[in-house]
Amino acid sequence: MNDCIFCKIVNKEIPAERVYEDEKVLVFLDINPINQGHLLVIPKDHYETILETPENVLQDVILRVKKMAQVVDKISDGVNIGQNNKLAAGQLVNHLHFHIIPRNENDGLVSWPGKEYESEDERLKMAEEIKKIVKEVEEENP
Ligand code: AMP
Ligand code: ZN
Repeated sequence: MNDCIFCKIVNKEIPAERVYEDEKVLVFLDINPINQGHLLVIPKDHYETILETPENVLQDVILRVKKMAQVVDKISDGVNIGQNNKLAAGQLVNHLHFHIIPRNENDGLVSWPGKEYESEDERLKMAEEIKKIVKEVEEENP
């Protein structure tokens, strides 16, 4: 993907503070960090979201995500790992990436706001619907 900003970082067409790389995966500082030390872990190959990323690529990426969480844990009190898919979920760069975010006691960041089910019935129906879709997805991706 020629116009992808993260592919350009991979190819060194634009600069980034690269902190780790190997054959498959690149890690660099997020330019607009939620906290100082906020990292992005990406596969060097271009995939838009987790939904169509092959499992072998994800395995490579997730192991580096763990490694980077271990690194960030050494400079903070806790670690958030985030991953957005599609615009509605806040994905602004369409190249699969995991956010590794250092967290500190009283750092002033708020956790996700919660929602409540309107009724027990709604909650149970949601579980049933999702269990049905799990089977569909398993059939589509044997
Ligand atoms: P998302 O909203 O999950 O797509 O996150 C995209 C992230 O990429 C944001 O946190 C941006 O700050 C970060 N970002 C965008 N452009 C760059 C860049 N050139 N170098 C480093 N991080 C970037
Ligand atoms: Zn890309």
